[in-house]
Amino acid sequence: MEYDESLLMQRVDGVKLAKEAEYGQPMTLHCAQCNTVLGDSVGVCGEIQSMDAIMCLRVTSDVVISDAMESGRKGDMVDCIYSSLKCRGCRCAVGKVIHSAPLRLAMIRSLFLLYKANISCYILNTSSMVEASTLTFDLKPLRQNIKEARQQFEAQLDQMSHVKSRLADRSVSSELVK
Ligand SMILES: [Zn+2]
Repeated sequence: MEYDESLLMQRVDGVKLAKEAEYGQPMTLHCAQCNTVLGDSVGVCGEIQSMDAIMCLRVTSDVVISDAMESGRKGDMVDCIYSSLKCRGCRCAVGKVIHSAPLRLAMIRSLFLLYKANISCYILNTSSMVEASTLTFDLKPLRQNIKEARQQFEAQLDQMSHVKSRLADRSVSSELVK
């Protein structure tokens, strides 16, 4: 068979490399008051706009979870049980973690929510410190993943239609030979 499978593999690998280069900017998250490092872009999993907070799976040990649990009585926090997060450096409130929440907020339970207003970001590529409120943390990884999967799928589809048209050509020429 003339069709070279390694060609398809190369194309898929090429797509993979391109997406890794585009992937979100590496940065560290800092307390806006005292610059203590509180997290990094690897731990960020999105943002929740209604609370103006960055959602993090992981933060540094300089984010202290208060022992006291509070219960929300108004706004987005109605029926939620949560603890405040404080910066170990300056003791200022930097966010909260929700322990228990109604279904509408179930996806952010147990995540560290850092208030954008209290966070600065150090962008590694440009060596610059910017306010978190000037950036979007809007689930880029997920959107990126969908884009990548689509590109891979389209590359495979191209390849398949190419093979199909070659097979069709061949069956036409074998009919002519008959
Ligand atoms: Zn601080």
